[in-house]
Amino acid sequence: MALLESFEKLVSLAKRRGFVYPSSEIYGGINSCYDYGPLGVELKRNIKEMWWMAMTRKHDNIVGLDAAILMHPRVWEASGHVSNFTDPLVDCKKCKSRFREDTLSPENVEKRECPSCGGELTESRQFNLMFKTTMGAVEEEGAVIYLRPETAQGIFVNFLNVKDTYRQKIPFGIAQIGKAFRNEITPGNFIFRTREFEQMEMQYFVNPAESDAEFEKWMAERIAFYDLVGLTKENLRFHEHGPGELAHYARRAFDIEYKFPIGWKELEGIHNRSDFDLRQHQEFSGRNMEYLDPATNEKYLPFIIETSVGCDRMLLALMCDAYEDQTLEDGSERTVLHFHPRIAPIKVAILPLVKKDGLRELATSIKEDLQQHFNVFYDEKAAIGRRYRRMDEAGTPYCVTIDYETKDNGTVTIRDRDSMEQIRVNVSQLKSWLLERIQI
Ligand code: ATP
Repeated sequence: MALLESFEKLVSLAKRRGFVYPSSEIYGGINSCYDYGPLGVELKRNIKEMWWMAMTRKHDNIVGLDAAILMHPRVWEASGHVSNFTDPLVDCKKCKSRFREDTLSPENVEKRECPSCGGELTESRQFNLMFKTTMGAVEEEGAVIYLRPETAQGIFVNFLNVKDTYRQKIPFGIAQIGKAFRNEITPGNFIFRTREFEQMEMQYFVNPAESDAEFEKWMAERIAFYDLVGLTKENLRFHEHGPGELAHYARRAFDIEYKFPIGWKELEGIHNRSDFDLRQHQEFSGRNMEYLDPATNEKYLPFIIETSVGCDRMLLALMCDAYEDQTLEDGSERTVLHFHPRIAPIKVAILPLVKKDGLRELATSIKEDLQQHFNVFYDEKAAIGRRYRRMDEAGTPYCVTIDYETKDNGTVTIRDRDSMEQIRVNVSQLKSWLLERIQI
């Protein structure tokens, strides 16, 4: 499939079909904030469900957590975010554009030259990305707290809780899905980089001696996940961080990159965080974070292997990957989203050929049965061809048409979104036929 050339068409489709809307649009919108509409929210739920399945339920030794967004301010001192979670900010004195210095070309940096207008750039200053607010009724007297910039710290500070109450033995993991907030200097490219986003993170606590092997294992697991959700293999690659790129906590780091219309960009980060986090929290909280291995009596601070991916960014990758403008053999055109059936927001559309002669009633009873199992869309308006096209744009893998033959012999047609081929299936077999193809 040809690669989408820009986000433009996708942004328009996303709005038109109710995947993603600009936030507060009736007030003119707010920069880089987006709302998920009826289809977007289903797509997001499916992504989270698949991630949760792959990262917790399929592993006996990985459990979930849902920590508060607001945390004790000391957490962010211990984690290094108060002093280190900064980006170098530069402004153009002429056109007032704002840049992250680390994303400019070396030439622009050296000459202090604006890449947009050639004007002079200011010296860079470190800008902390954490959103601050105050807790307490009186703003001036309240304590300064932060909106969490990552979900990971909620997991680290609960390491002892989960280990002790859930009786976990190393190696074990804790997974969490939740909102994170970063006051990004240059948000943009649709939902690629926003100031409020959702992360899906899993922190795996291991014996330091095993950390390199566990890291390799998680790299393989995570790349296999993208096959499961249906991302094209050729549009994914690994990028290993060189010594200059490694975050302050990381011993080794790989990004899984996706080929977005704006180029190869990070989709997910996999890090060997060493014992940095537990050591820091041990020092700042005064609580002993060591693990006593019951088999060997060895005492150590576990190393952490982290896998971290943005749910919104994954949704964007899935939409880019699925998008296609097709010219059909008869010269007509259609826009289609080739979502894998597992991830598609609507699994099946139920379309009675006409409303009369009992077809509506037949279609409704089939719909009500299937609705018990997955997301179904019912549509009896407009010509059947137009209804198919609408479902192609929504990425619905199967359309089930109820026609006069259904009345006569109990069969319906199933139309495949990608091949547009139609087969007839007995109503009694319809559910199992569909479940086989769409179940997570
Ligand atoms: P960058 O260097 O691009 O700012 P990062 O390396 O700091 O990003 P991480 O802290 O590793 O990103 O975050 C893990 C994942 O969370 C990323 O791979 C990405 O999918 C997602 N993510 C991070 N920042 C944003 C954002 N501003 N908007 C949407 N998703 C984000």
